[in-house]
Amino acid sequence: MMRPEDWIAPAPPGGGGGLLVTPGGYHIDPSRPVDRAVITHGHADHARAGHGHVLATPETIAIMRSRYGDNAAGHFQALPCGAPLAIGDTRLTLHPAGHILGSAMAVVEHRGCRVAVSGDYKRRRDPTCAPFEPVPCDVFVTEATFGLPVFRHPDDAAEVGKLLASLRLFPERAHLVGVYALGKCQRLIRLLREAGYDRPVWLHGALQALCDLYQAHGVALGPLRPVAEAPDRDTLRGEIVLAPPSAAGDRWLRRLPDPRIAMASGWMRVRARARQRNAELPLVISDHADWDELLQTIADMGAPEVWITHGREEALMHAATAAGYRARALALVGRGDEDEEPDLPATGATDGADA
Ligand SMILES: [Zn+2]
Ligand SMILES: [Zn+2]
Repeated sequence: MMRPEDWIAPAPPGGGGGLLVTPGGYHIDPSRPVDRAVITHGHADHARAGHGHVLATPETIAIMRSRYGDNAAGHFQALPCGAPLAIGDTRLTLHPAGHILGSAMAVVEHRGCRVAVSGDYKRRRDPTCAPFEPVPCDVFVTEATFGLPVFRHPDDAAEVGKLLASLRLFPERAHLVGVYALGKCQRLIRLLREAGYDRPVWLHGALQALCDLYQAHGVALGPLRPVAEAPDRDTLRGEIVLAPPSAAGDRWLRRLPDPRIAMASGWMRVRARARQRNAELPLVISDHADWDELLQTIADMGAPEVWITHGREEALMHAATAAGYRARALALVGRGDEDEEPDLPATGATDGADA
């Protein structure tokens, strides 16, 4: 009998990278331009520009078009979640991954063997995207961005509560929150709305297009204002301003009156990261599974075999093996600078991760 690694395996960067599905003739999340790509979601370390043919959810296609314009791909084919498609000698189905709008797990079947490639995922509720759906399979391919027992994400409503408490405490200061443009930004705004915050949220120009896209897909974000249209600095006193993380160390910051800097990321659990980002107010809000969610998902998927793509592979491999799974690390190239915004200066090994 054919082993799964005989037909689905990491391709070297020179050969396109990502996972190559040989009997289907396509790569999943390739790191270099290829002829046929299946894309799990719109973050830059998964969705690159320049492929010949891209298959993805309609939302991911909209995100790629918005970010990359006409160079996004030669041809797009939308595949909604839950609709199987025969490609070569494989059957491909996408299932929601709960990571960001449009994010999907690619489930590939070949000769009775089913491999589920999760891309990035999380398990907790996210008002901006469909929840993760466990799928029975023979091999589960998982990320491990937060694959260490120290990473246990707190309740997101409580983290947003810290931001609102700080606004009450420092009503004369603008509150700048560093957020990744795709996913974190819109989720934070929704969490603020759920907490009853109904004032306008002020946006750095780099965040506007994706907020518009989310709203066009039915994610209501409430009143949003471009910072560039604030009549003067004083207008922004006591207001929430969202900007890409890089703006916190940038000239752009001078537009804000006495800014108090917050940063929303799973990495804010690590004090050194918070310092590196100048974050006075670290908010631990992540779009990735934490340690418990990784283990829970491995159990929920029920696959006897687990492949780990990127992140802290060693600890998760050890834990999965101890729990009776066959586990191995794939060491995919091109991940780990995870979901980094293209305009972000690199500041460290895995910093800039959208986490
Ligand atoms: Zn991602
Ligand atoms: Zn990623």
